[in-house]
Amino acid sequence: MNATSAIARGPLIIVSGPSGSGKTTLIKRLLAMTMRPLRHSVSATTRAPRPGETDGVEYWFWDRPRFEAAIAAGELLEHAVVHGRDYYGTLKSEVEPYRARGFGVILDIDVQGAEQVRAKIPDHVSVFITAADPEDYARRLRSRGADSPAAIARRMETARAELARAGEYRHQIRNDDLETAAAELAAVIDQAFETGVQ
Ligand code: 5GP
Repeated sequence: MNATSAIARGPLIIVSGPSGSGKTTLIKRLLAMTMRPLRHSVSATTRAPRPGETDGVEYWFWDRPRFEAAIAAGELLEHAVVHGRDYYGTLKSEVEPYRARGFGVILDIDVQGAEQVRAKIPDHVSVFITAADPEDYARRLRSRGADSPAAIARRMETARAELARAGEYRHQIRNDDLETAAAELAAVIDQAFETGVQ
């Protein structure tokens, strides 16, 4: 490509995986190691911020009226109620403007949201992250210390339902070892940048 050619549109990378699969840490590791122009889309949610989370960084923390107004106004590419409780959704403004400028955009979204995006945007890459041992999920959630026992039970239930849908994704990565999994994810993303999306 030379300086006068148009910028190639960046790939859209959908990453799903149960709470406790280490998905968030894995994406952070990937973003730290990659040479690619990549952006983690900041979702909107009605769940309360955890200690240390900042509005506009991890999420846009909205109340329900604000979220429902965004749905009505067509501002969201997808949205879902996750863990039977809170709204989560991807803002259109977090995706297309960046792709048009050549950025790869990573969506860390649940299986319901992924299904909606797959149907709307054919040129996507989809990756499902698992941990080797489902018991790891519970251990990681407990050690994070951010969720009540009831919230952990809800998250475990979602995790079981999500794991059953791993086959709907083009790629599956087992996150036994962070560095290995990050390298595998980087390879999938490299391929998407180089050959167009698959
Ligand atoms: P957490 O509350 O632990 O940050 O996220 C809970 C779940 O919501 C995760 O599985 C995450 O992938 C999912 N999630 C985060 N943002 C979105 C979004 O914009 N849309 C959908 N459908 N799911 C999301």
